[in-house]
Amino acid sequence: MKLYAPSTIQDIKERHDFKLSKSLGQNFITDRNVIEKIIDGAEINSDDLVIEIGPGIGVLTAAAAESAARVIAVEIDKKLIPILSETLGGYDNIKVINRDILKTDINEIINEEKEAGTFSGRVKIIGNLPYYITTPIIMSILERGVSVDSITIMMQKEVADRIKSSPGGKTYGALSVAVQYYCDVHQVTSVPKEVFVPRPKVDSTVLQLSVRKERPVDLISEKVFFSCIKHGFGQRRKTLLNSLTGVCGLSKDQIREILSETGIEFNRRAETLDIKEFAAIANSVAACYG
Ligand code: SAM
Repeated sequence: MKLYAPSTIQDIKERHDFKLSKSLGQNFITDRNVIEKIIDGAEINSDDLVIEIGPGIGVLTAAAAESAARVIAVEIDKKLIPILSETLGGYDNIKVINRDILKTDINEIINEEKEAGTFSGRVKIIGNLPYYITTPIIMSILERGVSVDSITIMMQKEVADRIKSSPGGKTYGALSVAVQYYCDVHQVTSVPKEVFVPRPKVDSTVLQLSVRKERPVDLISEKVFFSCIKHGFGQRRKTLLNSLTGVCGLSKDQIREILSETGIEFNRRAETLDIKEFAAIANSVAACYG
């Protein structure tokens, strides 16, 4: 059975009286090449643990199970659980958990699998994410310091453009700096909307986010760094002198002093700053006033 074939999805819908949920972002992949590209892009080894977010009817799950030691798939929709038991019944290295990924402690899953000795390699997260939770999922994994090697996920093209953007780019913003602080970002492939059932309104991109072993900048306080980014991009049309006023309760005069100290011109905008310049400002804020 070709799990990814539109006729299979139709057959499953009829036999299980399953209705695709728009609110859960259920757009399923129907193209074998796309599945292969995601699995190849995730660089899964035979001793790895793969955690999949939102398996749907299990197309990526089955492909990952062929390459990995163990696959844990976290699916929120309880109606998909009996379907996944059927479609993935032939694999003994897959476990499906019926839970909301945003309420799931991924480190706990990893520790349980480690203790059970189901894998000896690295941990890789994969998924074709519902568009509305892409950013919260990525940021919660990165901010909570979940011990994963990489996150390879399909997302709305516009979100991927923001994540991989560089200083000066139209799409460069807080999300670009935050993700690039934690990860090396690499585009795996772009995916047209035509390969999904049902067809979404937007095209997609698969990104591989390789979690850095060492951060690209030394920070006195991550909290101050993220606060500076938030303020800077919060009013991106304003100059740094204006957009940073108020960060950590600092006055305009104090921001002027900090910018002079770091050698960054007052009239620049956040969208022109690279991560090192944000770090210099944040460290100056943290050292003096944080
Ligand atoms: N992986 C399948 C594929 O590529 O064909 C399905 C992808 S579909 C875009 C997204 C999947 O994520 C759906 O199965 C949906 O039910 C599930 N999902 C949505 N929100 C979720 C959440 N908060 N936690 C876990 N799974 C979720």
